[in-house]
Amino acid sequence: MATRITEQCIACGLCEPECPNEAIREAGAVFVIDPARCTECVGFHAVEQCAAVCPVDVCVPDADHVEREADLFERAKKLHPERAASLELGPKTSRFRKT
Ligand code: SF4
Repeated sequence: MATRITEQCIACGLCEPECPNEAIREAGAVFVIDPARCTECVGFHAVEQCAAVCPVDVCVPDADHVEREADLFERAKKLHPERAASLELGPKTSRFRKT
């Protein structure tokens, strides 16, 4: 499931540089997430980095884009072909395995 940013976004911009996939961009008065680039941070972090820094908690799971860990990990590898061989799934790199 991709992450999405709700209409309550205050456009502070803190999330944008934290995304490992450059999935976040400004769109008028709010920031938005491209679900085709979001991996829920799988492959990089155990928690969604946008949600971790958001001061108003508007980065939430997108029920319209439910995805399996394996698919999210494949996306991460495709988005970062130069790093694909070194990406791993584990408690520190997937929210699905967080302990
Ligand atoms: Fe980027 Fe991770 Fe947020 Fe998805 S959950 S938009 S990959 S920071």
